[in-house]
Amino acid sequence: MNISYGLDDTTPACDGWGFDDTTAARVLRRRLVDGDGQGFDQGAPLAAMGCFEGFRCADCGATAPEVAATRCGACGGVLEGSYDLDAGVPSRDTVAERTGGWRLPELLPIGPVELGEGATPLVETPRVADELDVAALHIKDEGHNPTGSVADRGLALVAAAAADRGDTRLSLASTGVDGQSAAAYAARAGLDARVVVPSRASFVTKAMINVHGGDMRVVEGRYDDARAAHAAERDDHPAESDARFPAGPFESPYRHEGVKPVYHEIVQTLAWRVPDAVVVPVGHGTVPVGVRSAARELDAAGLVDGTPRVYAAQPAGCAPVVEALDGGRAPEPIDHPDTVVGALEVPDPAGGRRAVEAVRASGGAGVAVDDEDALDAAATVAHHEGLELGVAGGVAAAGAWTLRERGELDAADTVVLLNPVAGSKDADVVRSRLMGRGL
Ligand SMILES: [Zn+2]
Repeated sequence: MNISYGLDDTTPACDGWGFDDTTAARVLRRRLVDGDGQGFDQGAPLAAMGCFEGFRCADCGATAPEVAATRCGACGGVLEGSYDLDAGVPSRDTVAERTGGWRLPELLPIGPVELGEGATPLVETPRVADELDVAALHIKDEGHNPTGSVADRGLALVAAAAADRGDTRLSLASTGVDGQSAAAYAARAGLDARVVVPSRASFVTKAMINVHGGDMRVVEGRYDDARAAHAAERDDHPAESDARFPAGPFESPYRHEGVKPVYHEIVQTLAWRVPDAVVVPVGHGTVPVGVRSAARELDAAGLVDGTPRVYAAQPAGCAPVVEALDGGRAPEPIDHPDTVVGALEVPDPAGGRRAVEAVRASGGAGVAVDDEDALDAAATVAHHEGLELGVAGGVAAAGAWTLRERGELDAADTVVLLNPVAGSKDADVVRSRLMGRGL
């Protein structure tokens, strides 16, 4: 069985890749299967990798056989992995015997540059579940990744793809957290990193980009200013001329493909039961797209029964995906974004349309929350359960409350919230809210 991800669930399965053993994809697969890959810590799990067939454009359906593909060569669209799910998806027991953060490498396009990412805790939070009046609430805490964010998973694959292509530099515009991650994984892979961040990026992320040896440029303003400055650099110096690999979200398939283990780990921890709902904060859109892809693949492979509803939570001051979901249309850029949740202040998300399609296809919805509610929710979870959420995680938590009030979540539901960034990165923002309330 082949599965691919087009614009909606009616897209036919993809056949006829036409790859043969001379293509780069096959060569890499063979290298991974044989365990003689360069620069990858192979380990036992990667030895079994074998379902990846290539990439397919989500917009025009063109196939991209090259291992280190970025965007569609025909139309510039977003690429997504295609997998032969009859070709060696391991059993539950086999997955259970594996350790670490990459327990289903068969469902990834490339082996990672490893730094201890993944295998993050799924923490049950019964007091918050009671307050929310749902059957169970679990928080997937991606703050436990090496640089404290879910971005590490995708950058582990980006760094591997860049090294495989022979590039020497990762390059991206960043709100901050994925720039830190790119600098770390570039260092791990022996590459350079060019990171353009807005001045409003947090001190911690900017400092750590420097500490990892990243080549950082700080642009006055917000994320879109950084993105424009980064695009201008590329125009002045085409990537071909200086061996840069585009490391931004949806600039290659690796960022969203790298999110899939988040979902693999959630269902494995839940004894292969599919949660009813997964509430994820959305910036660029990699997380809902990756979670939905993983959910469809595990269901199609027969490892689980069914898929969860995926809910997209965004700050009300910058909610292009939620507004598109509410309005039954494609996302439109936000002219004047304004939120304290810097990691989610992405007014024209690269994966916006893909995120909307993923959420709609799952049966989920969007929810926008005020900054104050997001900060209060982060503080409430920390106070009642001891778990530290970043403000983006607070957006998901506050969103869950609104979704419960709207009846989107009900009392019988098992709900998973995703905290994408470590709480300690946002300590000043959450504490200032407490102080503003006189606490
Ligand atoms: Zn295309």
